[in-house]
Amino acid sequence: MEEDESKDSSVLVFAALALVGVVAVSVPVAGVASLALVSDMQASAGGCTPATVVSGEDSEDGVINVPNGWGPLVEEAAKTAGLPVSVAAAQLKQESNWEPRAGSSAGAQGIAQFMPDTWAAYGEGGDVTDPEDAIPAYGRYMAALRNEVKPLAGDDADQLVRLTLAAYNAGPGAVAQHKGVPPFAETQRYVEAILDGGQVEFSAGCEAPTGGKAWDGDLGDGEWSAPLPGGKFTSGYGRRNVPGLPEWAQNHVGLDFATPGVGSRPGGPVIAPTDLRITGFNETDGCVIAKEDGDDPDFGFAFCHLNSWGVKKGQKLTRGDVIGVEGNRGQFGMSTHLHIEIYKPGAPDVVFPYQGFNIDPEPILREKGAWPQ
Ligand SMILES: [Zn+2]
Repeated sequence: MEEDESKDSSVLVFAALALVGVVAVSVPVAGVASLALVSDMQASAGGCTPATVVSGEDSEDGVINVPNGWGPLVEEAAKTAGLPVSVAAAQLKQESNWEPRAGSSAGAQGIAQFMPDTWAAYGEGGDVTDPEDAIPAYGRYMAALRNEVKPLAGDDADQLVRLTLAAYNAGPGAVAQHKGVPPFAETQRYVEAILDGGQVEFSAGCEAPTGGKAWDGDLGDGEWSAPLPGGKFTSGYGRRNVPGLPEWAQNHVGLDFATPGVGSRPGGPVIAPTDLRITGFNETDGCVIAKEDGDDPDFGFAFCHLNSWGVKKGQKLTRGDVIGVEGNRGQFGMSTHLHIEIYKPGAPDVVFPYQGFNIDPEPILREKGAWPQ
């Protein structure tokens, strides 16, 4: 398979980590915001590398990394829309990469990728290629979508953000029909990618807009749920024979799942397959480490290569809560996938690979009814 080499690199990362241990790595941050960010390293312990401020606006608790002095426009639009400003910035970047004259084959135009009909309704006669017109219009349009889906969110503000983004991607009708984020892979991915981008790139403190919230999709009929909904099994546990890898690395200590066709883009939500207690992180390889929660916890878990996550050490998750987003974080370039490890009952809270606690997750996931369809 074409992805073999990139997946195998995760084994190399793990071996290196086995030597140095699992530690919270503080990440040096360049630029003027570094003091503020270092004081917020709790956020890093929660799994997010604080953004390096590269240009544009840098407000106290507002949006960062918005280019061309458009920060105030984005803040005003976010206020109009009722969205976190980091989410609005991440969405605009996702739509056009801040290109005012961006176009799409479907006919969308401008920095917020308006379709002609939508622009006619929200553009107020302005120029769709002028961010001074298009960013405020984006705020008005998102406000309208938010109003449409608001009754479905009740008083859950985080859920309202998710539903508003889903309404943008799939239409408010689909959100109403499914009474939540529709179970379309593209929409699920869109919502998580923007929340992820907002946290990693546009939030000075790496704050997760909606970390740890319940995933909206189908949890399946098993005792556990598949950790990467919509993902496919791509690489098994144990012995393999990959040219170029040293002898010790021919032993894959987990399983890999990947969202089909995701490439190196952010993938789908990684969810708690069962009730969990978060016990630690491995920053270098993007791993969230957890124990099955309960009086007599059995299995330990690691969910790896996440680019960011919104959970904290000690936090308890209910089955189906979002841990983070399928990613490709690691020391080596690799395509986006989830590497999951399961540890024997009785293993320590945080396990180093190759200590002898790793077991093959496949029969466990199958027995618990959590194997992807
Ligand atoms: Zn793997």
